[in-house]
Amino acid sequence: MTAYLEYNGQPVDIHDLLWAGFAPCGCINSSLNASADGGILTAESAKRFHADGSKLREFRDPNTYRLISRADFPWDEFKGECPHSPKWGRPEIPIPDGYEWAVGDPARGLQHFIPSGPRDWSKPAPDALCGSRRHWWNRDEDARNLTVPCLKCAALAEKQAQA
Ligand SMILES: [Zn+2]
Ligand SMILES: [Zn+2]
Repeated sequence: MTAYLEYNGQPVDIHDLLWAGFAPCGCINSSLNASADGGILTAESAKRFHADGSKLREFRDPNTYRLISRADFPWDEFKGECPHSPKWGRPEIPIPDGYEWAVGDPARGLQHFIPSGPRDWSKPAPDALCGSRRHWWNRDEDARNLTVPCLKCAALAEKQAQA
């Protein structure tokens, strides 16, 4: 089945279209294929699809979704990075003393605060601030791209900063 959506005033094959998620700062932090089968036909449905069943909902709430053709999509700029301050147009999250951001395995799209410093390999991987457990944690900046902060960890860090 071929379906068409209006793009720049023209009917365009849905397979040539993407929904891009724009963070409040203007950077694209997500993209999603437009789809007739999946019902991803409107900006609202793209947003719902991305947020549903995941902890990314709240983080992506400020996003706006816009239809972009594959040809027009800024692939060079879209690296899951944001040069703005605050990053992704969201207020900076204070890093609690003795913690650092890390991405776990499995990542599930999130980064958590974990105790900083060298890992004691005689023990299981330490729990994140929020209590999340993973087999191991990756602290590399590269691993952290394309993930978003765990909102539980962020809330606990805010609380500590205010105390
Ligand atoms: Zn940005
Ligand atoms: Zn967490």
